[in-house]
Amino acid sequence: MNDNSAEALDHRDLNHDLDVFATDPLAGSGLPLWLPAGAAIRNELERLAKDIAHDDGCVDVYTPVLGKRALFERSGHWAKFAADMFPPMKLGEDEVVLRPANCPHHALVYASRQHSYRELPVRLNELGAMFRAERSGVLSGLQRVRQINLDDTHVFCRPDQVAAEVARALRSALRAQRVLGLPVDYVRLSLRGDGEAWQGPAEQWQTSQAVLRAAAEEVLAEEGLALVDGFGEAAFYGPKLDLQVRDGRGQEETIATVQLDFNQPENFDLTYQAADGSQQRVVMIHRGTVGSMERVVAALLERYQGRLPFWLAPVQVVVLPVAERQDEAARAAVDALRKAGLRVDLDPDGSLGARIRDARRRRISLIAVIGEREVADGLIQVTDGSDGRRRSLALEELVAKATDAYLHREPIAW
Ligand SMILES: [Zn+2]
Repeated sequence: MNDNSAEALDHRDLNHDLDVFATDPLAGSGLPLWLPAGAAIRNELERLAKDIAHDDGCVDVYTPVLGKRALFERSGHWAKFAADMFPPMKLGEDEVVLRPANCPHHALVYASRQHSYRELPVRLNELGAMFRAERSGVLSGLQRVRQINLDDTHVFCRPDQVAAEVARALRSALRAQRVLGLPVDYVRLSLRGDGEAWQGPAEQWQTSQAVLRAAAEEVLAEEGLALVDGFGEAAFYGPKLDLQVRDGRGQEETIATVQLDFNQPENFDLTYQAADGSQQRVVMIHRGTVGSMERVVAALLERYQGRLPFWLAPVQVVVLPVAERQDEAARAAVDALRKAGLRVDLDPDGSLGARIRDARRRRISLIAVIGEREVADGLIQVTDGSDGRRRSLALEELVAKATDAYLHREPIAW
């Protein structure tokens, strides 16, 4: 890992070797196409996001990428963000827009039926697309795009549950970044600034900022991470915790957030039925764990300089028969590894040296060579790109070790 070093490659340079995404002027700038290698990485990230969401008691929902302009007027997005949104489309009497965020739709999911105080919190997860009309000048690779696919959860809870939900969300966001191997530099407590841009009464901001601070301090003390105040960095509807990371060029960015929101529940009149039968205002928490697919893939490529951890690698094993006489053994190895759920390429043509060089260029995790001797001994010669070491082992042993590493999202235990 050469992060911070002068020769570290940018994710767009790495993409030349890895074919993760493509851009085409005909598709439009800031609208990358995910190629098969990119789709493989993204599938793994989506699986991680769902695993963590389900561990936290979230349920899945799907909501549309388009909504009536009135929906975003109600949420306040139209007033604050119209300049960053795509222009409305006229549709009969209605105007519809591409959504800038999932939150309004999730508020409507919550509002679609009555909720009792005993069933809260309700936690809704969706890996959803949202849109930003970024100017073409700032668009770059996967880092700045016009469609963002975000792992997004909205928690609806009682006021007395907020501290525990914030702590849970922050722990999960830190867990996700730990699994990904993206070290969090610090957590920023993003506070209200001066001026009129902030929805809701000042006292409510004070209270919610204090709740976030207390919950974050407790979690971060366990993790040995610092909490740093960010004045004026809050969302317009409430304060938030931002997990800050630094990319290969030392630039800081937010990779996941936990946001407290007393205002959307007002805008959408979201309530629950309390023990005394009265309707009470629910609290909404916006939480991201894995982050946006685009940003996290860019960050991972740069962090690992293209050599992704085994579980994330677009191609986990390439099988190289030395000559045609080993084709049958190579085929058997490919089939057994694929049957175990691994991503495997077979590369039979050309000189062995050239094929090995190509596999290295593509940062394939394991290079498995099968020659005459290997067939005679019933073995496969495997080179692990992460330590560069060569080992000979039986196919069943390779399948077992590779599967174990993949399922546990860990390096292979040779
Ligand atoms: Zn949200």
